Amino acid sequence: MTVAEFMAECLMHPKFGYYATRDPLGAKGDFITAPEISQMFGELIGLSLAQAWTDQGRPARFTLAEAGPGRGTLMADMLRAAAHVPEFLKAADIVLIEASPILRAIQKDALATYSVGWITTVQDLAEQPVFFVANEFFDALPIRQFQREGEHWRERQIGLSEGALQFGLGPAQPQPALKHRIDDTKDGDVVEDCPSAAPILDEIGGRIARHGGAGLIIDYGDWRSLGDTLQAVRSHKPEDPLANPGRSDLTAHVDFEALAQAAPCRYTKLTPQGVFLERLGITSRAQGLTNNLTGTLLDHLVQAHRRLTHPEEMGQVFKVLGLYPQGHLPPPGLDA
Ligand code: SAH
Repeated sequence: MTVAEFMAECLMHPKFGYYATRDPLGAKGDFITAPEISQMFGELIGLSLAQAWTDQGRPARFTLAEAGPGRGTLMADMLRAAAHVPEFLKAADIVLIEASPILRAIQKDALATYSVGWITTVQDLAEQPVFFVANEFFDALPIRQFQREGEHWRERQIGLSEGALQFGLGPAQPQPALKHRIDDTKDGDVVEDCPSAAPILDEIGGRIARHGGAGLIIDYGDWRSLGDTLQAVRSHKPEDPLANPGRSDLTAHVDFEALAQAAPCRYTKLTPQGVFLERLGITSRAQGLTNNLTGTLLDHLVQAHRRLTHPEEMGQVFKVLGLYPQGHLPPPGLDA
């Protein structure tokens, strides 16, 4: 099977899939994400979107959507901070795009005081302005991998050999979708393609272009990916992606160029997460929170600020891409 088929089975198989069967987040889980590190992350994102809504003349009705909301922490922090702009909350239809039944139940608890709707695909978003966020969602979408051979490409595949899963290569074939990669690759290089990402950007970017709104896509990756970035993590440690199918988290770096080019609206400069959060005022928010704290709570806050922003932690590896409509300002924290 292709790497994409393998990822899809491992992550979302209804009985054995990783996300379908567990809550993977937090200290006791397999990995930790920015919203789980500190409330500051979601607060600043909520305020950035509320400001973008204000900049666009406060549309009377809009969708506030999150893809892959995990435990619902990011949305809860966004909504709490956005309560400072009560008209924003009043105008919002809150919609979560989530495939995992277990995580949906956890999100329901986390957001019990709000009226929330769930959908499984972005096609079901209403035709109205959409203010959208996705943190560590696109890295979980299945990717295909291709190894260059002359002007052709061999797809990396996974099969069973002598009782064990092994990587192999399919036949060399032309890949019209990878024509733009002939100039920046050489023989033997691996490039990745995430086939489900472009249709998602087309749906969300289309709504932003037609009706207004904004998008914040946060993930690790870069502008155009090169090389094999498939990785597995279990209990906070990297492992062989073939070692524990369905029991380890599988991700790949996000190719932000592919996302940006699939969106039929304007997009911002790709910006490191640390820069984005500093521009939104994370340091003054942290200082505000420290006023009430001492001892280990204070240490935790200082650590959280560092983890989210420092270039050697999540500040540089994680990037933010913004989406916005023609003729409007980019969402705060990002440049056109
Ligand atoms: N955004 C959260 C969780 C990241 S984990 C955080 O930052 O903590 C990835 C999330 O995406 C999970 O909620 C997972 O169930 C969801 N997900 C993965 N693939 C999906 C798909 N194809 N459709 C909808 N949700 C998906």
